[in-house]
Amino acid sequence: MSPNRRRPLVGGNWKMHFLRDDATRFCDALLAGGALPADVVLFPSFPLLHSVAEALTGSEVGCGGQDIHPADKGAHTGDVSGAQLVDAGCSWVLCGHSERRHDHGEADDLVRQKAVTALRYGLTPLICVGETQAERQAGRTFEVLERQLRAALTDGPATFTLAYEPVWAIGTGETATPEIAQDAHAFLRGQLGDMLGETAAEAKRILYGGSVNPQNAAELISKPDLDGFLVGGASLDPEKFLAIIRSCGSDT
Ligand code: PEP
Repeated sequence: MSPNRRRPLVGGNWKMHFLRDDATRFCDALLAGGALPADVVLFPSFPLLHSVAEALTGSEVGCGGQDIHPADKGAHTGDVSGAQLVDAGCSWVLCGHSERRHDHGEADDLVRQKAVTALRYGLTPLICVGETQAERQAGRTFEVLERQLRAALTDGPATFTLAYEPVWAIGTGETATPEIAQDAHAFLRGQLGDMLGETAAEAKRILYGGSVNPQNAAELISKPDLDGFLVGGASLDPEKFLAIIRSCGSDT
């Protein structure tokens, strides 16, 4: 890793997978991997949070929720609050993952509200943006990224991490080429520069997500504006996840 590089961050988005035993076995294997060249955070589903946070106690691996409701508490069946996430041991939360946008109709403004609430509870929002296949084919990628980013950040959280997750690459095995990913990341960093100033934009970590695996991670992370990964499928196998994390420690 070159000395000036932002320290990489790798998130494991477990989505709706794993039972408690799987989760604790995974944590044991991950922690047995020794010192890691990246910050690491796991995003288990809600019922697993307590066990995972407990299994990670004393380690540097963080734990985060996959969603948050913008309200502090109340009649919101099936939702989870910032206070509950903190109480369960979280320090992170995903906001605006494409599966939330698609499955639950989450619009840009709701993503902003969730990110603001997260920060109010001391949780770092990991804000996800990304275009669909149709949007890319129509030449609208940058327009969509700009819209999602500005909606999330205008009057939004002061502290956040960003993930570029092209929807067409999520869970499909069709990873963005390193060049496509770099183009999008450079565009996003440019937008951050407009909104936050150059220095803040240069300091921000922008993760790539979309069918990352041990075979493609090293080439992706070699691109200058990629600062780590948000990993879905490959984060369910501790060996693959560790290999992806370790790829962040080698300059290729
Ligand atoms: C994700 O869900 O954030 C993701 C990137 O999934 P996958 O790695 O399986 O494409």
